Amino acid sequence: MKFFESYKIEEGITCIKGLTGELMYLIEGKDRAILLDTGLGVGNIKEYVEQLTSLPYIVILSHGHLDHAGGASLFESVYINQNDVSLLHNHSDIAGRKAYLESVLGEGFVPEDAYVTFKEIEYLPIKEGDVIDLGGLTVEVIEAPGHTQGSLCFLIKEKRILFTGDACNNFTFLFLPESLPVEDYGHTIKKLLARDEEYDRVLVSHVNHELPKSVIRDVYECCIDIMEGNVDDIPFNFMGHGAAYIAKKIDPEKGKRADGRVGNIVYRKDNIFSTKGYGY
Ligand SMILES: [Zn+2]
Repeated sequence: MKFFESYKIEEGITCIKGLTGELMYLIEGKDRAILLDTGLGVGNIKEYVEQLTSLPYIVILSHGHLDHAGGASLFESVYINQNDVSLLHNHSDIAGRKAYLESVLGEGFVPEDAYVTFKEIEYLPIKEGDVIDLGGLTVEVIEAPGHTQGSLCFLIKEKRILFTGDACNNFTFLFLPESLPVEDYGHTIKKLLARDEEYDRVLVSHVNHELPKSVIRDVYECCIDIMEGNVDDIPFNFMGHGAAYIAKKIDPEKGKRADGRVGNIVYRKDNIFSTKGYGY
């Protein structure tokens, strides 16, 4: 069974797609490489990536969710922001990953033994401002709390690419128990927006790898609109999570925002305003 497929986005950047459409990236400099995320943990991503590159590489997780960290146990160590380590543990059992896969693909799609078994490995710290030199390519870490508390974005300066993981996209999940209030998340997006002149391409972690960079501004304005009640509020249910709402209406035929904008947020009404006491 084929668990992964991959394609080159540009020199040094390869996108790897897992069975549920979750995306991983192999970023290769002259001297070494980064595997960004490990997918759902179905099939062996370690063996797969070692067929793609002969460079020494490190593994970095954009955040601790099961569809990105599920394959981490195949490695001796991975970098993950410390604020997501407990989330990774909560998401580590096969039952949860299986339920997720079946919610996307249906039952019986993959053999039981294809699931990576969780094992305790070394979780290496990674934080805001860390810069990883791959030889001719430098990757800067930007903390982006919101979707999860330890979510990270990555800026490749030489290529003017921003990887946002799940931290900002066309359907940003902000309704999860581990998600921050919309107002706090707005501060994250403001930070990405402030660096807007440093990137041209925005790569994400689900479905299609790239979104127009206007996604960042759209999501920021979405945060403001949620706080001001200027939303369409389409009810959304996901795997038994409580009442969530899609902020901006989707055109069902195009699968995109009906008003033509790109970024969108799915949120909970009891998790809008910050308890930190700053204005927006
Ligand atoms: Zn996620």
